[in-house]
Amino acid sequence: MYHTPMDIEIPQSAQIILDLLEAAGHEAYVVGGCVRDALMGREPADWDITTSAKPEQIKAAAAEAGLKTVDTGIAHGTVTVIIDHEPFEVTTYRADGEYSDGRHPDSIEFLDRIDGDLARRDFTVNAMAYNPTRGLVDHFGGQSDLQAGILRAVGDPRERFTEDALRIVRGLRFAAQLGFSIEERTSQAMHELRNLLDDIAVERIWIEFSGLLCGKDAVPVLREYHDVVFTIIPELADEYEFDQHNPFHRYDVWEHTLHALQAAPPDMDATQRLAILLHDVGKPYCLTFDEDGKGHMYGHEKLGEPIARDVCHHLRLSRADTQTVTHLVRHHMFSIPDTEKAMRRFLVKHGPERAQQLFAIRRCDKSGIGRGQMVESPMSVAFAKAEKLMEEQLHAEPVFGVKDLAVSGRDLIDAGMAQGPAIGRVLEVLLDAVVEGEVPNEREVLLARAQQLMPR
Ligand code: ATP
Ligand code: MG
Repeated sequence: MYHTPMDIEIPQSAQIILDLLEAAGHEAYVVGGCVRDALMGREPADWDITTSAKPEQIKAAAAEAGLKTVDTGIAHGTVTVIIDHEPFEVTTYRADGEYSDGRHPDSIEFLDRIDGDLARRDFTVNAMAYNPTRGLVDHFGGQSDLQAGILRAVGDPRERFTEDALRIVRGLRFAAQLGFSIEERTSQAMHELRNLLDDIAVERIWIEFSGLLCGKDAVPVLREYHDVVFTIIPELADEYEFDQHNPFHRYDVWEHTLHALQAAPPDMDATQRLAILLHDVGKPYCLTFDEDGKGHMYGHEKLGEPIARDVCHHLRLSRADTQTVTHLVRHHMFSIPDTEKAMRRFLVKHGPERAQQLFAIRRCDKSGIGRGQMVESPMSVAFAKAEKLMEEQLHAEPVFGVKDLAVSGRDLIDAGMAQGPAIGRVLEVLLDAVVEGEVPNEREVLLARAQQLMPR
């Protein structure tokens, strides 16, 4: 539901900052994302403030009120003011100078009036400012675009994306998160200028792209702007319209991937969503035909793993996130465990967290096939059974690693075993015996078994 400016409830701390700046003779407004979100009835993530006060004046006014400040980006006019441990970014009205490298403004210029500050912002819905006594400042029709659900660049879209191409991905991110449609000229410029993204720091791109992947409308945006996606992740481009030549698969590889992503649960994180995006990235490189002329892509998960790793490196993902993505791509074709013992082995092999992620990605993969397989095929019956087995095993006394055993290395030493690598080997054998269901995970039983194994 759309709210009016009168409904905007500024938190007390932000209001204190507005008041102290105004009392010192400056103008001050909340601005950007928080105004947009408040008008949409969404809870803003943070409240940014824009002001006519120069950085030194912001600091002086805060100091007078006994508030701490941090010089976050003094050169760009940003001072962080802290109230009750909560940080607020306060930025001087500014215009950005030339963007000769399409990344950073060569210079910035402080302004006395808010107009220019709003004009430097990316989209009309992000270019509004509000102050309870002065009201809403909306020079670019942000309010009506917000009501109509339209994302529109401020000013000439081609100029704005040429200045800073990151705005292309930000725009897609906002469209996906807010469910907005992108205005025609803005959309055209995004397609046309997508190659400028090659010069943008990948860390900045990934921040916005991961937000896009988690947006409620991610899939239609990825579908319409696949050319932009392939500029960011060129490894995906060969999936586009890649026919799987198999009646089992209703869609080409890219379209299947989008359907799989559509099935992701709302709380799935960006890393796992990236794994879904990349799960079949090896397919275009291993198509073979059987004697009936049916296509198969055997081993695509093995081929996909190094490709996925390259993508993660290129996007500068952390080591842990890279491991998650590559593990999920590599193992997404796992055979469905059909007994308690097989499920315990599966949980030991992958660890409980990864095992659950693998099931989640497999569920998405299956519903992305597009033939209703989830409903009643033997495969889906097996899958449902396996999910139940996993649930039971996870809730039973969990034994997924040596640390979960009822005996420790210490216990073995106390029982007379010499310190050294043999201890670890005995524990591994005990783990195996428990996982295989040969012995229960009980201290006395395991100690007895260990006695038989101990080197004397
Ligand atoms: P979110 O709620 O997701 O944080 P936001 O709109 O607050 O969205 P931020 O990245 O926090 O986005 O940026 C704050 C504001 O700064 C934006 O609303 C916009 O006015 C401006 N802005 C940020 N990045 C750019 C950019 N690359 N080009 C132009 N304006 C930008
Ligand atoms: Mg923000």
